[in-house]
Amino acid sequence: MATKRSKRASKASAARSKRKVRARATPTERRAQPKGVINAWEDDPSAGAQPSGGQVIQRPVPILRDAPFPIRIAHPASAPDAKPHPPGTAEFRYWTAAEALRRGADFWGALLPGISWEVGSILPVDLDFGTDLNAFYDREGLKFFHATAAGRTVFSGESPDIVCHELGHAILDSFKPQLFDAASIEVAAFHESFGDMSALLSALQLPSVREGVLAETGGVLGRSSRLSRLAEQLGWAIRQSVPSAVEPDCLRNAVNTLFYRDPDTLPTMAPGTSLSSEPHSFSRVFTGAFFEGLAGMLATTDAKDEAALLQVSQDIAAILIQGIRAASVVPTFFSQVAATMLGVAASQFSAQGYEVALRSGFVRHGVLPPAMALAATRARVPRRTEAVAATPTEPKTLPMLHLSVAEYGLGIPSIVVYAAAEPKRLEVAGAALAVGAAPSPGEDQAAKSFFEDLLRRGRLKVAKPGKPGAEIMRSSAASTHETHTHELRREGGQMVLRRVRIDCGHACC
Ligand SMILES: [Zn+2]
Repeated sequence: MATKRSKRASKASAARSKRKVRARATPTERRAQPKGVINAWEDDPSAGAQPSGGQVIQRPVPILRDAPFPIRIAHPASAPDAKPHPPGTAEFRYWTAAEALRRGADFWGALLPGISWEVGSILPVDLDFGTDLNAFYDREGLKFFHATAAGRTVFSGESPDIVCHELGHAILDSFKPQLFDAASIEVAAFHESFGDMSALLSALQLPSVREGVLAETGGVLGRSSRLSRLAEQLGWAIRQSVPSAVEPDCLRNAVNTLFYRDPDTLPTMAPGTSLSSEPHSFSRVFTGAFFEGLAGMLATTDAKDEAALLQVSQDIAAILIQGIRAASVVPTFFSQVAATMLGVAASQFSAQGYEVALRSGFVRHGVLPPAMALAATRARVPRRTEAVAATPTEPKTLPMLHLSVAEYGLGIPSIVVYAAAEPKRLEVAGAALAVGAAPSPGEDQAAKSFFEDLLRRGRLKVAKPGKPGAEIMRSSAASTHETHTHELRREGGQMVLRRVRIDCGHACC
């Protein structure tokens, strides 16, 4: 019966997809395709607070090895038959992951010509690396997991939201690699925000998502919707163990009311309703501002329809990419990206009036104080051609900084970290609660705070088991694989803090 239901749903969505393919072909669809289609989730296996109820759609067979951004699913080693498979099967999970990977890579690839993966020419993907409610990006590739919650097995690689989030980490690492090792809470949080923005914008490349979200919100994109609710099923699974860690109906919601704080002043952990310094938690400030900007951009269009939504999704991505490329890596990184984006919007999209919409989002969420946001629109931004030309000579690493760590029982007096210490291109910062800007921490304070936060959360691998004074354990950590995000490596006679992986799982701890 499940198969019959899924076939009926598939036929209906296939008819819808065919109409849209004629209207506007995406890069995936323009490419020479093998005949046939596969079944995939539209954005997640779940809908809202329920562990199931996602929408099945049919899509052209994705070709992962093609440019831009070639991808290879390394596990499972061979692809199942490229045809519509019913949800609940390994074959369905393979093709829904492949479809999301190809769609996300096509979307970002169009904006990043000539850029290749940081990991090499092809991005390896493991769809089932072990048992965990989790997903990783490391500089070997993407890794997804499975785990059981309340009797239901959840595969993180089955959710297009999660797949496009992880892909976002790899995309951001391809054109801003110095962020990976940065000893800064705000930079780490931005990586998470980019993952969520990747999920949102990649979802909007599907005609059925654009039509669905406009119908669900009555055309007011800033309302909570299937689009803004990210990773509903993983959120459900985590909620079974730690109910306060996530939103009531998803993992994170891009429609939120969170306001910027200096992350040094935030607790290491907090319930999902509050901000903490944990990167996924703090990322929601930037994502919330971005999503509000996106909604405002749609509202500035005449038609406010599905075609307009596609256009603003592509325009905001172009603005975002230029904003990130030109942004200085400093402890207040959110404000550097935001201010640069406002300059891009004002100079390159003045006819569309996007600047007011974006500025409103950033000011309302405190990513920029009102006066600095206004001034940013008048700041000169390197043109795209200049930015591209500058790429080969851009430093790929950050300045190194010595940090005293004698008090932590590591058996060494100091370490070296990659500090968010690039020269500031724009004099901006996040908003204070009252007036103007919050005080900006120095790069040394931001680095120390980042390091102690890692220790508190048990995310630093302590090399010598004989030095237990430094170790903080996590009782909930997976036992089948490592989940620390950083380690101290001996390089050239000194101990250097290096990121091992970006861990996108259990957001509370
Ligand atoms: Zn992530």
